[in-house]
Amino acid sequence: MMSEQVIFRIKRFDPENAEQGSYWEDFKVDRKKGKTLLEGLFDIMENLDGSLAFRFACRAGICGSDAAYVNGKYVLACQEQISFYTGTIKIEPLPFYPIIKDLVIDMEPFFSKIRAVNPFVILKKSLEKEVIQSSEEKELMGNSIDCILCGSCYSSCVTVWTDPEYLGPAALLKAFRFVRDSRDAMTDERIGLINGNHGVWRCHTAFNCGEACPKELNPTEAIAYLKRQAVKKRFSRLFGK
Ligand code: SF4
Repeated sequence: MMSEQVIFRIKRFDPENAEQGSYWEDFKVDRKKGKTLLEGLFDIMENLDGSLAFRFACRAGICGSDAAYVNGKYVLACQEQISFYTGTIKIEPLPFYPIIKDLVIDMEPFFSKIRAVNPFVILKKSLEKEVIQSSEEKELMGNSIDCILCGSCYSSCVTVWTDPEYLGPAALLKAFRFVRDSRDAMTDERIGLINGNHGVWRCHTAFNCGEACPKELNPTEAIAYLKRQAVKKRFSRLFGK
């Protein structure tokens, strides 16, 4: 008979007992069709251990708060069915980030990079009223607008691991999104922001970010585009073309 339960093996960390370090703890969770990993975590918190800490918000794969590293893969807990798994499910906080408690990480290193690329439209002067984009103009940004800032790509990036100052895949995808935005007036300045010592040229095209992204976005491709724009800008400055 098919198992009615699975084991949630959760990597835990208690900041009040930090010297103990991280440790694994097992919980039995009902394996019902339609139930998500996030609901399994709620089962544990409500019925087995009220001290378990994890983030969530929309429960619909939009907010990115519940990204986790599960059996070696990046997932959104609210989108992952328990019935996909049998036996033991290893659930960890996103690797590389400082851990606050259990599955809750400190995302400031990630969001500081997002802020560094000015993640908002800076309008052209002539467009200070309502600005309507055509479908073709919106298409220029592609699916970069679908980023939910879950932080998975940043966690998976080999350059981030070795250069904590590196802007990282999500911030560079965000920069791409605004460089491609027909309403934005700061393209040159944006290229300047991503062209420094810790910008696009640090990307080694490992493609980890695209594999990690639960929204199937491709920051590496966006970074390649930004590299081309940086080269064009340099050439036009040197040769006036
Ligand atoms: Fe998450 Fe993908 Fe956005 Fe990275 S690019 S923050 S993995 S949604």
